[in-house]
Amino acid sequence: MSTIVLKNICKSWGDTEALRDINLSCGKGELLVLLGPSGCGKSTTLRLIAGLETPTSGTIEIEGRDVSNLPPVKRNISMVFQNYALFPHLNVAENILFGLKARKVPKKERRKRLDEAVSLLGLSGFLERRPAQLSGGQRQRIALGRAIVAQVPVCLMDEPLSNLDAKLRQEMRQEIRLLQQRLKMSMVYVTHDQVEAMTIADKIILMKDGHIEQYGTPEDLYNLP
Ligand code: ADP
Ligand code: ADP
Repeated sequence: MSTIVLKNICKSWGDTEALRDINLSCGKGELLVLLGPSGCGKSTTLRLIAGLETPTSGTIEIEGRDVSNLPPVKRNISMVFQNYALFPHLNVAENILFGLKARKVPKKERRKRLDEAVSLLGLSGFLERRPAQLSGGQRQRIALGRAIVAQVPVCLMDEPLSNLDAKLRQEMRQEIRLLQQRLKMSMVYVTHDQVEAMTIADKIILMKDGHIEQYGTPEDLYNLP
């Protein structure tokens, strides 16, 4: 059974048809990349899965449950944004734990999950710092930490590396892939960067003008005539 299934998804704003009959699925522990040029509908697709937008028509299922009408907090997903969405006045630990506190996870459990995330991400010396005192790569790790401590089956990533320089991009890409595999997360990962897609994906969905142009493994897409 696939972890995420989109069936006949359409999305319009007035006359703008952003998505037209999108059908896709992401298996358990699979990393699915949505690839395509700016404006083709990648972010909209991700935001629909997250529940940050509502489809004009079609249904979205997560772990066999129709979540089409559920708010983001009820969907069992975590999301990493391009700009990381960190709170400047909170330190690293508080930023990572923010969602858990809001969901009333007990303090002892919060502590345990923080320790795990921090050791996975190599953030142990930085817990008391604020985001402004950290490098771009470290800020990215805080955002990843937040996704890890949520301990949900689905992680959604919207151009997570686009604010980093080339060297860090490559490093963080590998780190994300290792974490995703180790934690067996089902991940939908949005990028416009073909090399990034080819190196990180199990499967790639190539989008164009609001529809799916190609679908397959990186090898399948690389070997296209
Ligand atoms: P991508 O992520 O591939 O760059 P988007 O999903 O952001 O593409 O956008 C797809 C299309 O939908 C674009 O034409 C964009 O301008 C339009 N769009 C996205 N969000 C909105 C919105 N809130 N209101 C109106 N049009 C939107
Ligand atoms: P990204 O680069 O991450 O795809 P965008 O710049 O496309 O982000 O969109 C940022 C926000 O603006 C999103 O919430 C998106 O839905 C909204 N948006 C995008 N295009 C339009 C548009 N043409 N009209 C109104 N809102 C839009």
